[in-house]
Amino acid sequence: MPRGSVLCELTEHGPEQHAGRIRPLARPEGGAVWATWTTPDEVVCLALYDCGKRSKEQGRPCSLFGAHLGPCSFARDDALVEDPARVARIDAALGVLAEADQHDKLAVQTAAHDATLLTWDELRARHVWTRLPACDQAAMYRLLARADSLRATRSSVASTASELTVDVAQMTRLWEPSSPQRLPDGDTAAALLGTLDRLPPEWRTVVLGGQRENRYQARMPLDEAVAWAGRHSSEGLGPPPAEDDWTAEWDRKEDERQGATTSGRLANLPTGWQVDAVRRIARGGDALGTVANADLSINVIRLYGVDRAASDTGPTNLHMASVRADPQNA
Ligand SMILES: [Zn+2]
Ligand SMILES: [Zn+2]
Repeated sequence: MPRGSVLCELTEHGPEQHAGRIRPLARPEGGAVWATWTTPDEVVCLALYDCGKRSKEQGRPCSLFGAHLGPCSFARDDALVEDPARVARIDAALGVLAEADQHDKLAVQTAAHDATLLTWDELRARHVWTRLPACDQAAMYRLLARADSLRATRSSVASTASELTVDVAQMTRLWEPSSPQRLPDGDTAAALLGTLDRLPPEWRTVVLGGQRENRYQARMPLDEAVAWAGRHSSEGLGPPPAEDDWTAEWDRKEDERQGATTSGRLANLPTGWQVDAVRRIARGGDALGTVANADLSINVIRLYGVDRAASDTGPTNLHMASVRADPQNA
């Protein structure tokens, strides 16, 4: 099992059977293995055919099984109803996260899961989601993956919990009436990314490589480093040699080594994810760590039915079941 839990992928429905997709079947007629349950501790896995319906506009296939309850997956966001209880549940989950040290690990993991998924649901139910810029959608996906990472960690969950408390709370402000309906600094980060992309490769490497933790010398903030590189490169100059000092020399070598990796991995991310990564680096995040985390998040959210940065799929409610890797069931 790639994950320890599965989410019902049907739109909001009554107490009938829930169903979550486990994995596609490798056979010519397609289909997938689905976990079905009415109570979370009694899960039955079934091989089911695909629904087969497609959306009228773009021909996107429904990701559910044949004869499923409710609307098809491509119509799910429209079907997400406003639920007055949802915000209260988000607040309760954020409350647990904020006092993570007072709760056991399972309670914190559950709270992280609820806070992020319900926030994503609320954004979609209020039709804020589709108007968000791609970098803010990437930020939401990153939080889903971050919450998911709590499940696997053996170390303390406290620092992740406090990060999530702040970041999810910021997401929840997007649906307040006075909200500009976007997260701060997206435009600034997009402009920075544009300037970075126009730099000659050797400058881009030095600038991104300098955005790391554990330098001997002070780290120049990203916007200053980009401006510095822009001025010099527009005069046709290459990066100056490191000063005659072994710490400077060491920093430069590390900058070039990590910068080359960071630069390549950043360029391979979908654009919205690049902007979100630059936004985080500009706030002091380690560049390589930030880019590696984006890669990891993209892989994790696939488990939630989101492919890269597509905006329209994924579970819409929180009917959960524990799925154990039980050979008799699998
Ligand atoms: Zn369900
Ligand atoms: Zn369907």
